[in-house]
Amino acid sequence: MPKYADFHCDTLQKIYLGQVDFSRQNQAGHLDLPRLLASNYIFQCFAAFFNPALGQEAALRHTLRLLNIAKEQILSLPQVCWVKEAADIKETGDDKLLALLSIEGADFVGSDLFLLELVHNMGVRLITLTWNGRNSLGDGVLTGGNCSGLTGIGRRAVKTMQDLNIIVDVSHLSEKGFWDVSAIAAKPFVASHSNAWAVCSHPRNLRDEQIREISRNGGLIGMNLCPPFIAEAREGQNLPALVRHMSHIAGVGSVDVLCLGGDLDGIEELPQGMQDVRDIAKLPDLMETAGFSAKEIQAVCAGNLLRFLKENLE
Ligand SMILES: [Zn+2]
Repeated sequence: MPKYADFHCDTLQKIYLGQVDFSRQNQAGHLDLPRLLASNYIFQCFAAFFNPALGQEAALRHTLRLLNIAKEQILSLPQVCWVKEAADIKETGDDKLLALLSIEGADFVGSDLFLLELVHNMGVRLITLTWNGRNSLGDGVLTGGNCSGLTGIGRRAVKTMQDLNIIVDVSHLSEKGFWDVSAIAAKPFVASHSNAWAVCSHPRNLRDEQIREISRNGGLIGMNLCPPFIAEAREGQNLPALVRHMSHIAGVGSVDVLCLGGDLDGIEELPQGMQDVRDIAKLPDLMETAGFSAKEIQAVCAGNLLRFLKENLE
């Protein structure tokens, strides 16, 4: 059975709302520690997300609150190993989970780039620059109208993040913003939870040129389980269709760029045939049917992500 590593979930929000106790098995939510370990997960990245409509001050407070919840209710558990540098990525045995802390949407920054250093000191190692709308760093994919790329602050933020060894995440970022990042990035960047636009033309998905650029740059693309990002019609929103996104990205870029970024607990519905994280076990057979080798399946399910972190966290 393959091992799994995943680049994006929103479980922190469920914990904050009191809907999930991460340390126990829950009826609610898509995942918790017992379900992850039972499903052979060895790594999960936990995102602190805040709907940015309430502005920077509220975003800062909420982001700090979620980071604190992550520390107290996930990262301090004896079965969890908090990954802050490359040396933390190691064989841990079946009863341990490696965990990374990320922030989805840099709305908390405003014009204060020192806050990037603050959250780095709190253990954050990946930041998704925007959510769907506009913030001080740049425009998200659903900004609409005159959708722009990165602002001056956004460009400085990318440099600051890469200097601090915070991974830059372009999921949710506008296409113009994507190319602004690629023009100034001195290190690989990632799309932690995005699929292929050529397979499903949702604005959250990546165009072929973007897939090629991330691949050329040595980055990663995490496969998202959000049904509307997989296929337009409900009857096509299933794991075989997700594997078609993988095949497309492997063909346009390479297998090395693929990982999982399921967006679990951040999405309302799951693909047909999935109840929660445990159904990820259906993926390897579907990948094999699509022509992926056993080595490639293990690389996509966990190996590529762990290799990337070993190479890019210092
Ligand atoms: Zn997201």
